[in-house]
Amino acid sequence: MNREYDVLIAGTGAAGLYAALRFPENVSVLLISKRELSLSNSSLAQGGVAAVLDTINDDYQLHIQDTLTAGKNKNNLAAVEVLVKEGPSDVLKLKELGVDFDLLENGEMQKTLEAGHSRHRIVHHKDSTGRAITEKLIETVKSRPNIDIYENTLLYKLEKCENGFLAGLLTESEGSCVTAAHYCILASGGIGRVYQYTTNSAIATGDGITFAHMLGADIKHLSWIQFHPTAFAAENDRERFLISEAVRGEGAYLLNCEGKRFAHKYDERGELAPRDVVSNAIMLESIATNSEKFYLDITHKDPEFIRERFPMIYKKCLEENIDITKDHIPVFPCQHYLMGGIDVDLNARTTVDRLYAAGECSHTGVHGANRLASNSLLEALVFSRRAADDILKRMQTDNNQPFGDHRTEDELSGRQLPHGYRTEIRRLMQECHFVIKKPEAVPANLERAKEILRDLTEGGYEINRDFVEARSLATVAVIVLEEVMKENDTE
Ligand SMILES: Cc1cc2nc3c(=O)[nH]c(=O)nc-3n(C[C@H](O)[C@H](O)[C@H](O)COP(=O)(O)OP(=O)(O)OC[C@H]3O[C@@H](n4cnc5c(N)ncnc54)[C@H](O)[C@@H]3O)c2cc1C
Repeated sequence: MNREYDVLIAGTGAAGLYAALRFPENVSVLLISKRELSLSNSSLAQGGVAAVLDTINDDYQLHIQDTLTAGKNKNNLAAVEVLVKEGPSDVLKLKELGVDFDLLENGEMQKTLEAGHSRHRIVHHKDSTGRAITEKLIETVKSRPNIDIYENTLLYKLEKCENGFLAGLLTESEGSCVTAAHYCILASGGIGRVYQYTTNSAIATGDGITFAHMLGADIKHLSWIQFHPTAFAAENDRERFLISEAVRGEGAYLLNCEGKRFAHKYDERGELAPRDVVSNAIMLESIATNSEKFYLDITHKDPEFIRERFPMIYKKCLEENIDITKDHIPVFPCQHYLMGGIDVDLNARTTVDRLYAAGECSHTGVHGANRLASNSLLEALVFSRRAADDILKRMQTDNNQPFGDHRTEDELSGRQLPHGYRTEIRRLMQECHFVIKKPEAVPANLERAKEILRDLTEGGYEINRDFVEARSLATVAVIVLEEVMKENDTE
């Protein structure tokens, strides 16, 4: 690893990879991921990417309106317009790079419908779109000589210095080191692991949000968290496998413990209402029936179609002894997505000079209070490209002197982290800020989260991945619950 780079990108999901590709060969880029390159929320994305590619049957205004409706009109309209109008060219760019989108016989991309969309506009690769996109992007970044890629490399510290940042990195191959970069793009993903049950990958611990917060960047709407109504209701697994929205889009029924459809009781759009509405309906029905047993039923569709359209879901469910062509799929809501994050402008600039954020860790305002299905990969693409372009523009005028001598190592040793902090944080969050909120539990849970964070900050613990992630989870919990307290106080 070099001692300095033009740009550091933390994260190899859709946002980090796509940003990296924008930089020409004369710009040195360090691209890191704290685990394997392919372990990310992006790789898990099933449904697809929403984009207006067919301007005869669809138009920008409809996609904008669907996004605003799902977001309860709390979206940033300017950001939504950028997303919707620029997004199609990024999707076409992916196709040009070789992403294997499902095609119609005439060669056009297949477009499916998902909840909250008024038109068929979700392009996909079967039910594993994210993996198809990230695999192709990883292959492409690997061919670029200006991009140094380090996997299993944890960003544990980010400090501002003259001309940029000093980044503390714990690498598998080279141990710990401190490297400098003139610009940093945080593309570090969401916060799912702050909950007991989530669809998110193990990397989603809110590290980037924590670093940005420590640097004094504005963090916005971190309590705007989306719960997916239909995660596979496994007994014990923390990471719950998602039964994609597209399954309901293709006509699956949502059933209660008595095998009856109920979604229409709570919203006239029934199973195709936006996620928060369906999650709420399940929780209310759970109270009404005094049961947490819920099911998706797609058995009325042609088995061959099901196996062809949802091969991954079919396979994953079979591993749990559920044949979705014949059996009902047990489902229950769980944490899925973060709408808030590090506040950024239309060029993905944070409020800290030279610090950018893109993808799920950022708050562009496109999602408002609730994300429309399949808008997040689109957001990751559009705003990471804009971040890279803004950096390229700035590089023409910024006076970026070499960093010269800077420290290259940190002291990382310390006490062992006690067991249980992460589990406790998850319990605190699950208890008071799940689908149906419990405001009365927030003050005590916030106090406890603050105590844990204080100990983590002042306790002299060894800096390793466990410590960094525990500190991130505690930081996220404190920010979320403080925000909720403020809202409760003003209501
Ligand atoms: C199961 C599932 C299904 C989904 N389906 C869809 C869908 O169909 N359509 C859609 O639009 N969206 C979908 N989403 C949401 C979407 O996938 C994510 O919002 C989006 O991919 C996030 O991309 P990202 O690049 O911001 O972060 P991620 O893809 O999560 O990548 C984060 C990266 O940051 C790295 N990182 C984090 N912390 C550190 C650190 N301290 N040091 C170094 N590296 C670090 C990680 O290693 C990882 O490489 C889905 C999400 C899930 C979980």
